[in-house]
Order: sequence, then structure tokens, then C-alpha cells
Amino acid sequence: MGTGSWPGVSAAWLARRRAARASRAASRGWRRRQYGLSWGSLLDTRRAPVNSVEGFVRQVAGWREYVWQLYWYFGEDYRHRNALRHHEPLPGWFQEADADAVRARCLATVLAQVRDTGWTHHIPRLMLLGSHALQRGWDPRAVTDWFHRSFVDGYDWVMVPNVVGMSQYADGGRMTTKPYTSGGSYVHRMSDLCGGCVYRPGERTGDRACPFTTGYWAFLHRHRARLERNPRMVQPVRGLDRLADLDEVLHREARRGDTPP
Ligand code: SF4
Repeated sequence: MGTGSWPGVSAAWLARRRAARASRAASRGWRRRQYGLSWGSLLDTRRAPVNSVEGFVRQVAGWREYVWQLYWYFGEDYRHRNALRHHEPLPGWFQEADADAVRARCLATVLAQVRDTGWTHHIPRLMLLGSHALQRGWDPRAVTDWFHRSFVDGYDWVMVPNVVGMSQYADGGRMTTKPYTSGGSYVHRMSDLCGGCVYRPGERTGDRACPFTTGYWAFLHRHRARLERNPRMVQPVRGLDRLADLDEVLHREARRGDTPP
């Protein structure tokens, strides 16, 4: 049917409509590629791969709801929890998100993103920013304040459970079953940031020792008595006994102090 047979409808309007339809179709195609399914079949596990359904239900729909409910369930005092008795102040370079002072490529990259945009994805918030704060023993209230101030989505209901509970384990395990922290090898496995770094993820002594690796072992050592009672942490804690160079690792961590890694 030609445009001339539609009284009152201009060719320009039809062109815009066609473009909008094409855009919606492209968007639907992107969503199908992203999740491996159409929205209509989203929850149909007979048609969609179970990992796609799990990814959407748990991560997109479920996690936000879980955090929102926990925020109200835990109550006002939750923000003051400090089960690990971490009291170190945040150093100036972190307070100011001074990414240029940091040599560790992963931390510098994420800190620069926060400084420049006020945002970074949930995973580097935990795996890099939160993990470093936890390893260094920074005060969880100060860490929560920093996340509040630095992020465009720093709503109270988002930050309090995610920082106090999930990232700093300051609730002693009410929200999560174990502390969320790791050595450099895990960061290497989960990202492409280690390639151009001055440090090496697998090294824990020497000038190229990865600060996340040394920080991880120092954290386990500091909280050994508590963590070895946690079934999910028994194996990692036992790993301390296999480190012939543990003293050197701890010495390196102590020397680093609160300087930017
Ligand atoms: S080597 Fe360590 S400090 Fe460097 S990018 Fe990898 S995890 Fe980060």
C-alpha cells in the first residue's frame, strides 16, 4: 500500500514509524542475544537455557529485591556494625579518588572511573574497591560514607547492605556466608586488567608482588581465629600453612601501610 492511500498520513511520519519499528526489532534482537531468549519466553525453562533464566531472575530481578528487603529488615543500627573491628581511616588518596597516585592497574582504572563518572559496575565495586578496603582494615562506616558520596546511585538502601554486609563483612556474616575478597589471581581470571600492570597477580614477594595477593594473605592471617570456624573459609585459611614466605608477605604488607599500591 502506498502512502498516498492513507489520507492525512505524511511520508515523513511513516518514515519515522518505520525507523522506530526497526529500532525496536533491533533492540529485541539484542535482548535475545544477551539473554539467549525472548522476553515472552523469559521464565520458560523449557525454551530458555537455565543459566539465562538464572542470570535474569537472580541478578537483575532478585538481587535488587533482596537488598531492598534486607535494608528494611536489618534496621537502622545495621550501618554501625563492625564485626571485624576495623578502625583504620581512609587514606587521602582514596578519599579523593586520586587514581593517578595508584600503580595497581585494576584499582587505578576503577578509581578513575568513579572519579570521572561517579559510577562503576557492581562487581569492581566489590572485587576491587571493597576488597582493598577490607584487606587494609579500613573503618566500614567511613567506607560506606565514601561510597555514598562518590556514586551517583549512592542511595542509602543500596549502599548500606552492599557495603556494610557484602563488601566489608562488617555484619559478621548476616548477609553473606563469607568475606568477599580475593588475591590477584582471581582478579586476573575475571578481568583483563592484569596484563598491563606493574605487578604480577601470582607473585606475593618481591617488587612485583600484587597488592591484592599480599593483602589477601594478610587479611586471612589477621582474622584466622574467626575465619577458620567458617566452613567456607577453612580451605583458604589452611593455605596460610603452606606459605613458607608468609613472614615476608606480612612484612611487605606492613611496609605498604596506607600508601597507594
Ligand atoms: S596484578 Fe594485581 S594489582 Fe595488578 S591489575 Fe592484577 S590484581 Fe590488580
